[in-house]
Order: sequence, then C-alpha cells, then structure tokens
Amino acid sequence: MNDSRISRGDFGDDTIAAIATPIGSGAIGIVRLSGDESIAVAERVFRSHSGASVSDFPSHTVHLGFVVDPGSGQVVDECLLTLFRAPSSYTGEDVVEFSCHGGASIVAKVLETILLAGARPAEPGEFTKRAFLNGKLDLAQAEAVNDIIRARTDEARRLALSQLSGVLSKEVKNISDKLMSVLSRVSASVDFPEDVPEPDYSEVSSELAYAASEIDRLIATSRQGCIYREGVTLAIVGRPNVGKSSLLNALLRRDRAIVTDVPGTTRDTIEEVMNIHGVPVIVVDTAGIRKSSDEIERIGIKLTEQTIESAGIVLVVIDAADDFTDGDFDIIQRIGSRAIVVLNKMDIVTDNSTELSAKEACSRLGIDEPVAVSAKTGFGIDDLENKIASVALGTEAGFSDGAVVASARHRHALNRAREYIGEAIVTLESGQPIDLISGDIQAAVAALGEITGETASSDLIDRIFSEFCIGK
Ligand code: GDP
Repeated sequence: MNDSRISRGDFGDDTIAAIATPIGSGAIGIVRLSGDESIAVAERVFRSHSGASVSDFPSHTVHLGFVVDPGSGQVVDECLLTLFRAPSSYTGEDVVEFSCHGGASIVAKVLETILLAGARPAEPGEFTKRAFLNGKLDLAQAEAVNDIIRARTDEARRLALSQLSGVLSKEVKNISDKLMSVLSRVSASVDFPEDVPEPDYSEVSSELAYAASEIDRLIATSRQGCIYREGVTLAIVGRPNVGKSSLLNALLRRDRAIVTDVPGTTRDTIEEVMNIHGVPVIVVDTAGIRKSSDEIERIGIKLTEQTIESAGIVLVVIDAADDFTDGDFDIIQRIGSRAIVVLNKMDIVTDNSTELSAKEACSRLGIDEPVAVSAKTGFGIDDLENKIASVALGTEAGFSDGAVVASARHRHALNRAREYIGEAIVTLESGQPIDLISGDIQAAVAALGEITGETASSDLIDRIFSEFCIGK
C-alpha cells in the first residue's frame, strides 16, 4: 500500500529555513528552522543572554539572546529562541523558531544570517510536507492546515479544524479497514482453498453495502462542505441605473466585506468577498459592476456575458420603479436556475406593475419569486442575504456531527471508491466467482488512501504542498 508513497530520502535530510509570519511590519516576525542541523545552525548564530549554548537547551524552552552574524560578529537583532527537539515538534524534526522584532528588513536579515550558517530556503509548504512524511499528520490533516490559514469565514475555519483533528481521516480509514478485511478473507480462501472456506456471499454483500452507504453519507456532506470552504461566486447584472452598484455596496457594507488579493495578480483584481451566513460569497467582475452606466451601455450586455457564465449565483437586478422589459425577461431566462431576481428601489415605487410582471416572468420560467429590496434604505437586504445563502447551500439539511467533506479532491476520491464498490456489488450479485471482486475492492481502498495520503503519488503530494505558503 505504501509503495508509491515517497520516502524521507526523496527530499534529503537538509535543514530548511523560512520566514513564518507575513511580510510587512508587525510586533513579532518569526523565522523557522527544521532539520537535523537546526540546532547546529542555531548555535552558529545565537548568543543567549544566559551564556548557555543552544545544544544544551531542553526541548520546549524559550531563551532570550542575540542573533549575531557569525562572520562579522555584529548583532542582527535581539530575539527569543524556542527549541522543539525531534520528534516532539511540528515537523517531527529538530525545530528552532526565532521570534524577532517584526520589521520586514529585520526578519529578512535574520533569515539571511541563518541561511549563511548552513540552512537552505524552504519550499512552499515544506514544513508541513515534512510533518506529513514523518507521520505527524496524514494528508487530509496537512491540507486542513492550509485550509485553516485560508478560511474566509468562521464556518470554513470550523470545518478545517475538524478535518485537522482527524475526524474525516478516521471515518475514511474505518471504511478502508472494513474493505481490507473483506479483501483478506476473499484472498485467503483463494490462496488456501483447502484450509479457508469461501466467505459467505451475503455477509460480504452486506459489508460492501455498508461501505457504500458510509461513502454515500460522506459524499452527501460535500456539496455544502465545498461551498463553505471554497465559497460561491456571485455576479450582479441588470440594465444601467437599476442600482447594481448600490446593491453591491449595501451588501458589502452589511457584511463587512473581506477584501482579498487574488494570489499571483496585481491589486487591480482585488476580490471582494462577503461573509453571508458563513458562506464566502465572492463577487465577480466588481470592476464591471462599478463602471459608469455610460460605459456599461457602450460595452453592452457583452461585458456581463463571461461574468454570467462563470458565476454560481447571478443577481438580476430590476428597477421596480421602471418598466419590466423583454430584455429583463431574456436575461432571467438565459441565467435560469442560478438567477435570483431582485426588485430594487422599492422605496420609490408608485405602482406594482413591474413587480407583477417580474413575478409572472419568474413563475413562467420556474424561478423563485423576486426579492424586493431597496439598496438605498436597506429594506429587504436581510431577505436577499437569506436567499443567497439558501441558493448556495441548496436544500439539504445542515451538518450533523461527524466528518464533512469540504474539498473537491476528497469528493472525487470518494466518488471513485464508490464506483469500484458498486462494481464489486454487481459482480457479487451476478453470482460470479467471489475472487473477481478483489480488483475492485483494491481499487476502492487505493482511492480512499489518496485522501489520507497512504496511496497518494509523489506528484499529487508535491502539487498539494506547492499550494501552501512558504514558511508553513
Ligand atoms: P447601476 O448602474 O445599476 O450600477 O446603478 P447605480 O447603483 O449606479 O444606481 C443608479 C441610480 O439609482 C443612483 O442614482 C442610485 O442612487 C439610485 N438607486 C440605486 N438603488 C436605489 C434604491 O434602492 N432606491 C432609490 N431611490 N434609488 C436607488
């Protein structure tokens, strides 16, 4: 089972170092070291105020001293050194953390000094990768570390924390163990037909059915789980002047928007993310929404075309104080079930003809009733938020206790495992020799092992950790 898993030797035993805190100024900046030479490297650069040397420090102790350039003897910074000896550390190796003053140049200089003293710069996620390879965390737990850092809402953080605690891994392993037990009984009866009787078909069948239902249960949590973790994209469309920009502002203001940079891009493409009932709602094409009406008119509907295609939810804004047009109807029809029709400017409506036309259009198109709001007064914005959350999360009940699948990678692995078990059940029911189910069961176990990492290829592992930040 562990054949394809990479071993400790694949990345060498070298000692790595990185800045573990965000670049910029803060009260504290942390530089982290991990590897066999951590203590020796730290010894070369650290002069403790007590005069004791790093190699004599007990594990899990903190010491005040200077980081000193070993070449020139010049003091780089005064800092606290924390030592975690192997195997009781995050990575399972000797780990030294320097808590320096949190200026970008200080932290960079401390790192440079440590690198000159014999460490090499860590790759993204390399500390956590080492924790995984040293058996401190399984793959799902290691991924949860990244999810916690990136969690955009409280709900997403809670799910990531539950995954870090190993709840998902445990349930996946339970299913896998059950399948392995079936497999070993089938194999034994094939290998030693005289000594081991063939397993009972109905018993095997009910064990496979149990594994299938457990996987189904996990898959059923994945829709909502993935939405909480990854969020849903939201576009706001409608004719010029209907109040799209005002509506966006009303929503953003209420939800204390989380503004994030899209990784790898300039600040022009800042994402605006709202926290709506724990769901990260990512507003797409914010720039388009905020463009002047003239410009929108000039670019026309084309501007929103791509936006509409890519969005999970589209707010189609109608001016309730203006006429309901064929164009409005067309746009709702084109978006279909992803549309939430919003009747804006309810504060200045004098008759309800537009409201009636919009309602009729929605009912003809099989879309939920419009939500009436006023971006100006805030009327109905609560209802709109409830609507956005319920469309994003779907109609399924919320989570009960137990594991939640919150990543598409895990869901795919579960889907594959479920298909193999389905195949095995079909084979069994068709009355074919029982050993014909072995291949499918093995494949199902391998798919499940990709979640916890037991059967993950080194490529997959590299890909997962490359998404981490440096220093994690
Ligand atoms: P956009 O072109 O669709 O983005 O529309 P804007 O948000 O720029 O709004 C167009 C005009 O309608 C502005 O003068 C807004 O102040 C006004 N407006 C937007 N929402 C409301 C509303 O709910 N009530 C009223 N009375 N005016 C609104």
